[in-house]
Amino acid sequence: MKKHNFNAGPCVLPKVAIDAAIEAIRDFDNTGIGILEISHRTPGWERIMKETADLWRELLNIPDNYEVMFLGGGASTQFFTVPANLMGKKAAFLQTGVWAKKAAKEAKLYGEVEIVASSEDKNYSYVPKGYTIPKDADYFHITTNNTIYGTEIHEDIDSPVTLVADMSSDIMSRPVDVKKYGLIYGGAQKNVGPAGVTFVIVRKDLIGTSGREIPTMVNYNTHCGGEERDKSMFNTPPVFSIFVMHETLKWVKSIGGLEAMYKLNKEKAELLYNEIDRNKMFKGTAAKEDRSLMNVCFVMNEEYKDKEAEFFKFASERGMVGIKGHRSVGGFRASIYNACPLESVKALVETMKEFESMHA
Ligand SMILES: *Cc1c(COP(=O)(O)O)cnc(C)c1O
Repeated sequence: MKKHNFNAGPCVLPKVAIDAAIEAIRDFDNTGIGILEISHRTPGWERIMKETADLWRELLNIPDNYEVMFLGGGASTQFFTVPANLMGKKAAFLQTGVWAKKAAKEAKLYGEVEIVASSEDKNYSYVPKGYTIPKDADYFHITTNNTIYGTEIHEDIDSPVTLVADMSSDIMSRPVDVKKYGLIYGGAQKNVGPAGVTFVIVRKDLIGTSGREIPTMVNYNTHCGGEERDKSMFNTPPVFSIFVMHETLKWVKSIGGLEAMYKLNKEKAELLYNEIDRNKMFKGTAAKEDRSLMNVCFVMNEEYKDKEAEFFKFASERGMVGIKGHRSVGGFRASIYNACPLESVKALVETMKEFESMHA
């Protein structure tokens, strides 16, 4: 049976990227050696590194005064790497979920942290608005998409201080006005590749501004300060993960780039949210205006609460994978990232309709 993958991360990847990865494991770039066995100093690999950075620049329209890095450690490592590099005395945070909270916790190791607003009072089911960003902060940190709760900041906000964004789960889902941000980071495994590679986009003048002595690997200058061919190559980069990311981004480009991706993502999300709102048995958990295009969270309506396990089983039997909600929200979560086909969303909607006709 065809499986429909709604996993929150690692997540579904484009089939063409998987096929290219399989081939590259056997033989990379006609070298007769597989990608898992090559040296990262092979010319063919240096070309992939350069092309991957170029794809990032092209798709996101990243200005020349920004560096693009591919590192290890996941977004969680950036929770302390960002303040180590950018924080003088104080950083401000918008607390829209546990990822934001974790990022703030790490920043506290380096100085003062101000939480300008939090939606913890309602289990992070909305994005706070009408807050004031302190002008004495070195930067203001936001999480653009809250993977667990299904909320998203839909526009590139204006900030009087440097804007830093964790875009782990909505990067490349829509065009972004990069110049409004000082730094953008995230783990690749939600929307641009497999686990193992972390992306960091940073405005060059911000590097080294904390004035603090930090370990070599934590210092952004180590990874982007040198010659072009050494970028993200201070130590062995996650070669295979970067390769799959390269193929994934080629796919994004082939379907028409981020405008086309955004259009498709809106279409998929609308289809699913419309069904959640129409269907008597379900309701969404996130505030409507803040609904994420990437992670769609929903629960059974009060009178059908006892049917939750049954729907889960019913959907599983129809090939739906990974729709169990995060334990802190409950119910269901369908992650419909870039590579999740419209066809899978339609299959889920049909499943919900069928279930309703049986029970309501
Ligand atoms: C998954 C996720 C993280 C953690 O990413 P790792 O790469 O596993 O460290 C951080 N922030 C957000 C928004 C996420 O969705």
